Amino acid sequence: MSFPARHVPGPPHGTGRTPVPAPERHHLAQLLDRHSAEDYRDLTCAAADRVARRIATVERPFTGATAEDLRAKVGKVDLAEPLRDPAAALDELERVYFDDAVYFHHPRYMGHLNCPVVLPALLGETVLSAVNSSLDTWDQSAGATLIEQRLIDWTAQRIGFGETTDGVFTSGGSQSNLQALLMARNEAHERMRANGGVRLAEVLSRMRVLTSEAGHFSVAKSAALLGMGYESVITVACDERRRMHPDALAAELRRCRAEGTVPIAVVATAGTTDFGSIDPLPAIADTCSRHRVWMHVDAAYGCGLLVSRHRHLLSGVERADSVTVDFHKSFFQPVSSSAIVVRDGAVLRHATYHADYLNSRTDGSTPRLSPNQVDKSLQTTRRFDALKLWLTLRVMGSDGVGALFDDVLDLAAQGWVLLDEDPRFTVVTRPTLSTLVFRCALPGTDPGLADAANRYAREALIASGCAVVARTTADGRPHLKLTLLNPRATRNDIAEILDHIAAHADDYAARHSAPGGRDGAAKRTR
Ligand SMILES: *Cc1c(COP(=O)(O)O)cnc(C)c1O
Repeated sequence: MSFPARHVPGPPHGTGRTPVPAPERHHLAQLLDRHSAEDYRDLTCAAADRVARRIATVERPFTGATAEDLRAKVGKVDLAEPLRDPAAALDELERVYFDDAVYFHHPRYMGHLNCPVVLPALLGETVLSAVNSSLDTWDQSAGATLIEQRLIDWTAQRIGFGETTDGVFTSGGSQSNLQALLMARNEAHERMRANGGVRLAEVLSRMRVLTSEAGHFSVAKSAALLGMGYESVITVACDERRRMHPDALAAELRRCRAEGTVPIAVVATAGTTDFGSIDPLPAIADTCSRHRVWMHVDAAYGCGLLVSRHRHLLSGVERADSVTVDFHKSFFQPVSSSAIVVRDGAVLRHATYHADYLNSRTDGSTPRLSPNQVDKSLQTTRRFDALKLWLTLRVMGSDGVGALFDDVLDLAAQGWVLLDEDPRFTVVTRPTLSTLVFRCALPGTDPGLADAANRYAREALIASGCAVVARTTADGRPHLKLTLLNPRATRNDIAEILDHIAAHADDYAARHSAPGGRDGAAKRTR
């Protein structure tokens, strides 16, 4: 298929003038405008056709290609020599990208928190990139701003926030957490100032952020970015199910008071990245209100519970000051789609800056007439990501999305039983959401060798193309992790992947044990 710069019909609706002449020059023909509207349709279909063929035929989540392999392919492309033909560019892309991409829709992709995406969201993606609204100001977005605001309200309602709530879409959970901590820091500073004018710079090093040992690393990064330093983060101990210990939290807060440091926020996690564990939100909310500390709930992963039949697991989230939600994790949305939602919309002023050219303080219009989302955001130019969720809810309804998440929670429960009953493995904790962290037990094997065998098992599995799983560290030792976000994956997929992992680990241990050592090493899978 090839798409020459082609004849162009007249404008779709009469302008009363003569038809616009066909653009002759190649570069102008590449602009999406009235001249190229038909080309746009054809090209979008051609791209979708390539994707559809891949999705329909891909047999494994990843080929196992190395960075070396792919660097050669990508490096060979001569950017100084344009192909001047979209079909040729797509052919080339088949080789440099599609052939060795990582396919999250494949049931044996169980690596990170990447979800298969739903069709209505892809409709949204097509529309939003072509119309290209920017959500910073009303005059660049119009109705798109109102759609985003409706979805923030919808999310806030699910959370249980009241009338004063507000929020904004962000690029992801990391940015949402950063913004939450910015607001918490500035609120704490304002309170200190009210008690006698200290400058922010003077108190930054005394500020503290508390999160559990299973909390997300973006909390520490945000604290550093906000000038408080990595040292400002206090890691609160967890119980054996990897949930923040409320007593340990209270003890740390008392210690802060005693030391004269200023706790500015407690970050509770609703769905830790490794274990899917949910911190005890009601107890943490009690502690935060007793100590008058900002409570942020990082529900980047667990937000899918808002539409699930397991909504009760998020009880207490309505008492937070701010909540991070990643629709691109448990709402089956394409990257990026995330939001920060706050109980009291007034705190978003900490992200406000008035630029004369954009959202000047004095342009005379009220925020109600001219709602500028840039006043609430760390970003300026910003995608209309909300459209994807909008179309998803309009097509599937919230119950449809929730049912997808419920399916993966059910699958994780089955996976837990498999692992727990299988003597080849030790599994860290029963899942609340949809991750399983485990390792090959390799009884009788030297601990160092067992660690190496576990690491090897994952690499060999991925290199074989059979499946993609993740790794992490738990209790100081390397573990493997299945992150289940595909409702089409089955118990059988998990069982077969576990067989492969056990075989690779056994094989490695057998090859590397000292002669006369571990006698069970030759034993393969069941
Ligand atoms: C994924 C994740 C984040 C980061 O979100 P991004 O969208 O990747 O920036 C933050 N917190 C938790 C608990 C997460 O799982």
